[in-house]
Amino acid sequence: MTRQRQILLDLIDKSGKHLDAESLFHLAREKDPKLNRVTVYRTLKLLKLEGLVDELDLLHYQGDQHYYETRMKREHAHVVCLCCGKIEEYFGEPLLDMRTQVQKTFGFELVVMRTEMGGYCPNCQMAREQELREAATAT
Ligand SMILES: [Zn+2]
Ligand SMILES: [Zn+2]
Repeated sequence: MTRQRQILLDLIDKSGKHLDAESLFHLAREKDPKLNRVTVYRTLKLLKLEGLVDELDLLHYQGDQHYYETRMKREHAHVVCLCCGKIEEYFGEPLLDMRTQVQKTFGFELVVMRTEMGGYCPNCQMAREQELREAATAT
């Protein structure tokens, strides 16, 4: 039990990316070929329950997948490109202000905050404009 937990936590922590369960399974298999899919998925669930990792859906930009990252990171919002899946992390002050205000307004003590925003990254905006231009000249 401890070994697979450690492997997964390391992978999630060191990747610096937001990996889905299936990619984590493949990476974990490279470290320990004996690991199977069920164990990896179960371990992820446990890590989540214990509050060691966060599970994100990133607005389901690629279907039903969930993505994982460790809780050790400072609070941040995810900005997802709905076209190419590029993910930016926003660490700005307003996030902390929002926490304070929500706590004040509703009297909650917040333990989880998850902010996800979707849109089109600069590259995809350019590609879209190009497409529209081409469509316009084609007619
Ligand atoms: Zn994009
Ligand atoms: Zn993140």
